[in-house]
Amino acid sequence: MNERGYSDTCIFCKVVKGMVRADIVYQDDAVVAFKDIHAQAPVHVLVIPRFHMTALWEADLSHEGLLGHLLASCNEVAQVMGISDSGYRVVINTGDDAGQSVDHLHLHVLGGRKLQWPPG
Ligand code: 5GP
Ligand code: ZN
Repeated sequence: MNERGYSDTCIFCKVVKGMVRADIVYQDDAVVAFKDIHAQAPVHVLVIPRFHMTALWEADLSHEGLLGHLLASCNEVAQVMGISDSGYRVVINTGDDAGQSVDHLHLHVLGGRKLQWPPG
């Protein structure tokens, strides 16, 4: 990771930098939200911090503001995508057992259909 908080090898850092194409639905000074390339629901958006952070396990209380910002951004995304009334789910996969496949913290916003519970 360089001094500006980017990882040169991270695909989501490349999305933030505009080096990899993404269908961005919402962004501000701290986060970028874009459609998942393998959508698991009619609405499937990933919300990521602009700076590189591997996973939720890296977070501590110093990240309280960012984590709140990320969660509030999920609701912005839900409104933009028209699923805030019908309902939606926010998921953070962390580590191997959860199936995390991209090592840049991301929140999944899923909706647009009835979602099963519990997840597999
Ligand atoms: P995870 O399994 O780590 O919780 O979620 C990673 C998600 O990122 C997956 O749902 C996968 O489809 C998505 N993904 C991986 N690479 C890309 C990409 O290059 N572009 C987009 N838009 N989504 C990606
Ligand atoms: Zn990254």
